Amino acid sequence: MNNLESGFESPVYITRPLLPDLQQINEKLLEIVNSKKVTNMGAQHHELERRLKQYLNVEHMTLFNNGTMALLLGIKALGLQGEVITTPFTFPATVQALDWNQITPVFCDIEPHTLNIDPTKIEALITERTSAILGVHVFGNPCDVYQIQEIADRYGLKVIYDAAHAFGTTVNGVPIGTFGDMSMFSFHATKLFNTIEGGALTYRDSDLARTLNLLKNFGIAGEDDVQLSGLNAKMNEIQAGIGLEVLRLVDEERARRQELLTIYLDELRDLPGIKFVTTQNDGSSSLQYCVIRVIEESYGESRDWLYQELRKYNIYARRYFYPLCSEFAWYQHLESTRAENLKVAQQVSSEVLCLPFYGELGATSVRKICRIIRQLHRM
Ligand SMILES: *Cc1c(COP(=O)(O)O)cnc(C)c1O
Repeated sequence: MNNLESGFESPVYITRPLLPDLQQINEKLLEIVNSKKVTNMGAQHHELERRLKQYLNVEHMTLFNNGTMALLLGIKALGLQGEVITTPFTFPATVQALDWNQITPVFCDIEPHTLNIDPTKIEALITERTSAILGVHVFGNPCDVYQIQEIADRYGLKVIYDAAHAFGTTVNGVPIGTFGDMSMFSFHATKLFNTIEGGALTYRDSDLARTLNLLKNFGIAGEDDVQLSGLNAKMNEIQAGIGLEVLRLVDEERARRQELLTIYLDELRDLPGIKFVTTQNDGSSSLQYCVIRVIEESYGESRDWLYQELRKYNIYARRYFYPLCSEFAWYQHLESTRAENLKVAQQVSSEVLCLPFYGELGATSVRKICRIIRQLHRM
C-alpha cells in the first residue's frame, strides 16, 4: 500500500483552450473596437484567412463562424444530394450537416488502425443516389485519401473531408486540406487551433469561393442584389483577431503535446490491454488528442470501468466517439445503421478513451495520470 497516488485536487479535463494572455487580447480588442468594424469580413478576417492559407498550405479558403456551418454550407455549395457515404465513428456535426441538406447518410464501417472510413467497404454501398463520400480524419489521422479518390473518380462522386481534428496534418508531406473536393476545419475552443468558435473550408475549385461567400452572408451580393438563399455564418472580427493571436502559439503547443505524448507512450505502452491510437497512413499527427483503446480481454476490465475509476481521481477522460452516429434515434430506419454492418466501429466505440492532453497540463501531471492508470490495473 506504499506510495499510492491520490486524485487531483481540481478536475482534469481532456483539453483546455489554447489562449493568448489577457494583455494581448486587450490590445487586439482595442484595435477592433477602434476600427468600428466588428464583423462582416473586416481587417482581422482578411488577415486570418491569409495567414491560415499559408499555415495550412492551401490555395483556397473561406472562413465561417463555426465548423458545422462550414460543412453544412460546403455540402450545399457542392450541390450534393441523395445519399452520402460516411462514417458512424465521428462527432454528431458530421452527419447533422447532411441532415440539414436533406441528404441521407449511408454508414460505412471503419478501418481498425486509423479508425477512419474503410475504403474497401465503400464500393458496396454506392447506389445511383450516391453523390459523395464524406470521410473524417479521426483524431487527426488521415483517411486513405488516395484510395478514396480512386473510388470517387471511378463512380463520378465528390469527396469531402471533415478535417476538424486535422489542423496541420500532412500525408507524405502533402497538406491535408488539399485532398478531395473540399475539407472542413473546426476552430472550436477544444481544437488545437481555435478562434473560440470558428471554422473554415478549403477547396480545389476556385469558383466555389463566390458561392461560399454568398451562402455565409444571406446570399447578399450587393445592396439590392440577393442571389441565393443563404444563412448567417460569418466569422466576426473578435473571433478572427483572437485567432491571429492563438496562431502564434500553435507550434509551441504542438511541441509541448509531443513531449506529453512521449511520456504517455513510455509509461503505459507495456500495460496489457492498453493500445495507443497512433499516426497511420504516412501522416504526421495534428496532436489533437491522446487516445487509447482499452481491450477488455487483456486489460481485465472494460473501458467504461476505467473511465468511471478515473473520475474518482478527478480525471475526466472522454469516450470519443461514443455512441456511434449510426445509433441516433432518427436513423434507425436506415439499413446501413444495422450493427452487423458496422462491427469494427461498434467494437472500437466501446474501447476508446481520450486522455487529458494539452500543453499546460505539464509533464508532472501526465506522469501522475499514468501512475494512477497503472495502480488501477494492479488493484
Ligand atoms: C469539433 C468537430 C466538429 C464541429 O465543429 P464546430 O466548429 O464545433 O462546429 C465537426 N466534426 C468533428 C469531427 C469535430 O471534432
